[in-house]
Amino acid sequence: MLSVVVPMYDEAEVLPLFVERLRPVLDGLEDGYELLAVDDGSKDATPVLLQAARRTWPQLRVLRLRANAGHQAAISAGLAAARGDWVVTLDADLQDPPEVIPEMLAAARAEGVDVVYGVRTDRSTDTVFKRRSAHLFYATMRVMGATGAPDNAGDYRLMSRATVDAVNALPEDHRVLRLVVPALGFPAATVGYAREERAAGTSKYPLAKMIRLSLDSITGFSSAPLRLATWFGLGGFLLAVGLLLYALVAKLVGHTVAGWTSTVVIVAAVGAVQLLCLGILGEYVGRVYSTLQRRPTYYVAHDSLTGASDTGSVA
Ligand code: UDP
Ligand code: MG
Repeated sequence: MLSVVVPMYDEAEVLPLFVERLRPVLDGLEDGYELLAVDDGSKDATPVLLQAARRTWPQLRVLRLRANAGHQAAISAGLAAARGDWVVTLDADLQDPPEVIPEMLAAARAEGVDVVYGVRTDRSTDTVFKRRSAHLFYATMRVMGATGAPDNAGDYRLMSRATVDAVNALPEDHRVLRLVVPALGFPAATVGYAREERAAGTSKYPLAKMIRLSLDSITGFSSAPLRLATWFGLGGFLLAVGLLLYALVAKLVGHTVAGWTSTVVIVAAVGAVQLLCLGILGEYVGRVYSTLQRRPTYYVAHDSLTGASDTGSVA
């Protein structure tokens, strides 16, 4: 069986179009399927439309999160609840064309792999800013050590049961799936597709959420920024030693230093370096803290399959 996990946050506008295009594809599959719609705390008509669709679509299962947990956490919730031997994740806005799903399944069978990445061969429908920022993101992550993630692969991805179990077993909270899945090292293949325009509605990924994803990616993958803090600290220390020696020699030879400028510069420079290092440390400490707390990153309010209504789960 195939589980199709779709995170949805205020997607009422695009939902009818999505259902119309996805259903024939899934009904045309040889094996059975479940469509797991993860309603990420939508405030619009999304839950109403999903309940209505369930009346005529028995394979549709709705997982409602109590509050908006974010794209990655919503997919994690879906992966934890999915029962399929294979699980595919895709966006609800039809930017990931559903017709690629059978191709992914075929590629997995033909090549005997555990993971099939949907790779965007054509991003002409994305804005220039989105493309540039995405390029910067993948380039940075490669430098940070997150190798194995194919270029231009988002969260349109087919995973075997073994892969999904491995993802679910990860203890980390702020996981960025497009980096975590390649890092698990399962044999993988890719299928190319043209990224389409959002079919309706507006992007649910404002700049603030993009920045959060980048910070989660960097801190989740590398302690390089922490090492950067060490280098800054070392440089600052050497500078301070040099200045101390200079001041001592200047005093011994009776050379008076007009101290005002250098004092201001030193205070400012040291302050800046300290603040930067504190910020970097803060990013990590914050994550250590939230991981130690084991505070769930999403709460399932209702599962239409099991009827469970109050299961707090850890992503
Ligand atoms: N999404 C979500 N929770 C959020 C933000 C987004 O579940 O807090 C879903 C959204 O409904 C969509 C997918 O994540 O199915 C990708 O979001 P979107 O298409 O808005 O992002 P973009 O394509 O603009 O990067
Ligand atoms: Mg989109």
